Amino acid sequence: MSKFISAERPIWWSSKITQLLELSKIHRNAIVYDMDTIIGNVNSLFEQDAFDEVFYAMKANYNSSVLKNLANKNIGFECVSPGEVKHLLDVLPYIDATKILFTPNFSPKEDYIFALNSNLMVTVDSLYPLKAWPNIFSNKKIMLRIDLGIGDGHHEHVNTGGDSSKFGITLDKLAEIQIIANAHNISIVGLHTHSGSGILNVLNWVNIANKLIEIANTIPSVTILNLGGGIPIREKLSDNPFDLGQLNTLLLDLKRKYSKYEFWLEPGRYIVGEAGVILTKVTQLKEKGGNYYIGVEIGMNTLIRPALYDAYHEIINLSRYSEPITKNATIVGPICESGDRLGNNREFPSTIEGDTILIASAGAYVRSMASNYNLREIPKEIII
Ligand SMILES: *Cc1c(COP(=O)(O)O)cnc(C)c1O
Repeated sequence: MSKFISAERPIWWSSKITQLLELSKIHRNAIVYDMDTIIGNVNSLFEQDAFDEVFYAMKANYNSSVLKNLANKNIGFECVSPGEVKHLLDVLPYIDATKILFTPNFSPKEDYIFALNSNLMVTVDSLYPLKAWPNIFSNKKIMLRIDLGIGDGHHEHVNTGGDSSKFGITLDKLAEIQIIANAHNISIVGLHTHSGSGILNVLNWVNIANKLIEIANTIPSVTILNLGGGIPIREKLSDNPFDLGQLNTLLLDLKRKYSKYEFWLEPGRYIVGEAGVILTKVTQLKEKGGNYYIGVEIGMNTLIRPALYDAYHEIINLSRYSEPITKNATIVGPICESGDRLGNNREFPSTIEGDTILIASAGAYVRSMASNYNLREIPKEIII
């Protein structure tokens, strides 16, 4: 057990193994969320005075119960498509429009019209919409997504800053945008930068804040600086938790100097990532070409992140968690793709068909990215 509690903050499921094993007798495969952990993560964000508003990036996990519990904490929501907005309104029909941000990218004109007519705060991330369709923004407040040329994250595909990323407005376009805004009575009330996902360096957000302040000082209407999401979770059980307190202290220093500006944050993964686990069962075992494979019932259709981003998820034989390690295993699913590997080179105890396997950090970008590829089912979500 000690390897699960080596970090400062023990991972929630290390004290719920019996309960999870009981659950796995009823549900062979499931995605389980621990609501106390989600609420605890929200509370830890709200404890940081530097953030005036926190918006949950719902693409990370749009489970209805999760959304309802988050709304009870009075958090806002960040949406990237009309579909997300409509789902949010289905689940939370009385939510106030000021609690919803709309941050589209290369979206059709109709998406902007939909969001503006719904009185949502729209973040424009290109010159094009303002130049081609200025009238739809007339008399509206908007935010601009700025590409500061600083991107980061756990994989190239989640790095959303710099020349090779499709996101954001570069500084050379700002003068033209301001002319369009003045001509059409469009009020630029905020600047936004989201530079990637799973960024370990606290200074990322401080650098963003500094640079956005510099730009905002040239646009008098701006009072909001949205520093994006990207707060990391612990991928490996031995990782240290992210130091939110340090980020808070550094941002408060800035705020003292520039009290005009509100700081907003829009995390997704941080709120839900660690709170979810996948439970599944061992199907078959195989030795081949010097590799030892452990097959499990769920595959890349349920958990695409390892194939998509080389993402690391801890994989534990929950039925035998206290037994000695005997094998180095490759964990694979039942999908007809060579990329259907959930973990490489993992230390495992002697494992047999039917053992319950836990895959950690499955609360973010797991169910929301899952598909029925191969016409395999996506496991049911269960809240504990
Ligand atoms: C995805 C996304 C986020 C959330 O990213 P996390 O890494 O889950 O925190 C925030 N803002 C924008 C614009 C996004 O696209």
